[in-house]
Amino acid sequence: MTSIRVTVWNEFEHEKVHEQIRKVYPDGIHAVIADGLKKHGFTNVRTATLDQPEHGLTEAVLAETDVLTWWGHMAHRKVEDAIVDRVHRRVLEGMGLIVLHSGHHSKIFKKLMGTSCSLRWREAGEHERIWVVDPAHPIADGFGAYFELPEEEMYGEHFDIPDPDDLVFISWFPGGEVFRSGCTFHRGRGKIFYFRPGHETHPTYYHPDVQKVIANGVRWAAPTNGPAFTYGDGSAIHAKVPLEPITVK
Ligand code: ZN
Repeated sequence: MTSIRVTVWNEFEHEKVHEQIRKVYPDGIHAVIADGLKKHGFTNVRTATLDQPEHGLTEAVLAETDVLTWWGHMAHRKVEDAIVDRVHRRVLEGMGLIVLHSGHHSKIFKKLMGTSCSLRWREAGEHERIWVVDPAHPIADGFGAYFELPEEEMYGEHFDIPDPDDLVFISWFPGGEVFRSGCTFHRGRGKIFYFRPGHETHPTYYHPDVQKVIANGVRWAAPTNGPAFTYGDGSAIHAKVPLEPITVK
């Protein structure tokens, strides 16, 4: 059991307009991701979608969110800039962010990374072998050397991101490509985890290993109780009053 407060965000568009995808995720991708977290002991999980007022990400919701997970694809451009700015500010304040699959091209991820975040892709239902390359990392907790997904979309390098702070997983695909599938970043006080699998036509988010990675990622990205600093010299008492006497010659 954990008291970490999670908001699972999904654009929730494919599932409404594509019959094949609705069959895989009848209640939406977000419902399956939320269920996976509950199986891993998260009791405080809510969902939010694009079509809700303020995309379900009001100031009040974000104030009560320790970690936000993000799935988007066809509707990246429909996400309002004001909401992106709000999420960005919360990440810098310390809210964790888990960016999933095609979220690599979301406005929020690109804003946090500062690069194009583009990659190479192919839809051929290939199996995916995901290697753990940082076995001591908390997000790899409980895994063996690798795990496999029977069918996924291929993402290949080069992935145009800044060098990750930690590289946890690398994927291999039968077509020969490899991809940095599990990457972490720090921005301000916030921790960000990008996790690759999750193409909408495959039942990836039901997979126990994928659910475990997301649960581990949420635990890792949750805020900690580090010191709060004030910056500048106006109200910053530490800047105005030195901790040690200064002798000016
Ligand atoms: Zn995809």
